[in-house]
Amino acid sequence: MTAYDPNNIFAKILRGEIPCKKVYEDEFALAFDDINPQAPVHVLVIPKGAYVSMDDFTKNATMDEIGGFFRAVGTVARRLNLAQPGYRFLANHGAHAHQEVFHFHVHIFGGRDLGGMIRR
Ligand code: 5GP
Repeated sequence: MTAYDPNNIFAKILRGEIPCKKVYEDEFALAFDDINPQAPVHVLVIPKGAYVSMDDFTKNATMDEIGGFFRAVGTVARRLNLAQPGYRFLANHGAHAHQEVFHFHVHIFGGRDLGGMIRR
């Protein structure tokens, strides 16, 4: 696994060095609009801790961090009024998933019928 790069773009957003359109923040997570939205609602939720990916997060984060983070994901979706009629969330991990930013993040998509599972 590659080491965490403290200069990745989401680390800079967390430190307030570059701006974001914040939609939610608590002690465990920050959520903001994706810069290149793939759906009417496309929000990224990132943990406050320095974790490269889903693999790193689920292996090395504390239970409090994991619980707090996933609680925040659900809270964000509810606050965006997505619990009904629904939304999709996903995390890209590694090369086969085309992960681009190496600070763990979850995408939340919604605002329209998203169709079936994504295929290419
Ligand atoms: P990944 O492929 O790593 O799961 O997705 C990275 C996501 O981060 C992409 O959807 C991309 O549009 C988004 N992104 C990349 N740079 C920035 C940025 O500077 N600001 C915001 N808000 N989103 C970004």
